[in-house]
Order: sequence, then structure tokens, then C-alpha cells
Amino acid sequence: MAYKVEIRSLLESLSASRDLSGSIDAPDVELGEQIYRFDGPVAFDLTLTNTGAGVVASGTAKARVLTTCVRCLCDTCIPLEAEVEGFYVRPGHDDEFPEEQEVELISDDSNIDIEPAVMASVVVELPFAPVHDPDCKGICPVCGGDLNATDCGCSQESAPSPFDALKDLHVSDGPVS
Ligand SMILES: [Zn+2]
Ligand SMILES: [Zn+2]
Repeated sequence: MAYKVEIRSLLESLSASRDLSGSIDAPDVELGEQIYRFDGPVAFDLTLTNTGAGVVASGTAKARVLTTCVRCLCDTCIPLEAEVEGFYVRPGHDDEFPEEQEVELISDDSNIDIEPAVMASVVVELPFAPVHDPDCKGICPVCGGDLNATDCGCSQESAPSPFDALKDLHVSDGPVS
């Protein structure tokens, strides 16, 4: 969802700056098997500055994402705080920058869209393997119980092993009949 900002007055004077706060409704993000749903909009606090070469947007973005703990599979809500950095130039000037510099174009002479910069900064902060608690004990591999809630008493020795079947196999020394 685009978030357009009109910056005509900013472009008129060099080194002019302006604060901008707001929020963006963000769609779900999928990273591999993990799905992250935003619990409310992504809130941002930015300062836009005319640097002459272009307009820089810098500041922070905050969001809360709902996802599942990779160990116990419970729902968990993770607060995120991201550093936002966006750079905007007039069309035709984007090739004056090194390739690794992400630049967005100023459209219709005085409009910028800050959504891509805000969302990119938030997505980078998403934990790849989120846990609801750093001490989450996960799920018992034997009985499937949530080890955070119960001590099921299963021990590692009782974990099913492919060799268990051998215990029930009685081998007789007698001739094969
Ligand atoms: Zn957990
Ligand atoms: Zn168990």
C-alpha cells in the first residue's frame, strides 16, 4: 500500500527538512515456512531532508507482528523497531548514484512514496526463527506435550528409536524350519 507524501516546499530550499509521522497498513509477510501478520499498522517517525542530490528520509518504524513460536508452535506477538533510510531523486538523476544505493524516484515533480523504505526496514528486522520466549522448552518429541506447561515425564530413553523393533525380535539358534 503506497504512502504518498507531497514534498514541493521541501524541494524549493536546500537543506530544508520536515518531520513526518504516520502509519501504514502492512500485508502479511511470508519468510520460508513462517508467516508474520501485523498486529495493527506500522507506525513511523521520519525526518525528510533536502540534501541537494535528493531527499533523504530517515528515522524509525515500529510494529508488532503475530507469528508462531518455532519450538512450541504457540501464537506469539513480537515487537519490532527498525531504522528507516530512504533516498529519493528526480527522474533522470538515479544513474548518478552507485548501484548499491537504493534510490526511489520523485514522481509528478513532488511526490514520494515512503512505503517501500518503511516496509523494507521492518522486514529486515523480522526474526527468522521466532521463539515466544528465549527459554521456550518446545514440544516433547515423545508425547507431543507442551514442555512449558507440563513436565510429562518422558525421558530421552523412551523416545522411539528404529532399533526398538530389534528388542522384540527373538532370534533362535535352531535350524530354520
Ligand atoms: Zn514457544
Ligand atoms: Zn512427553
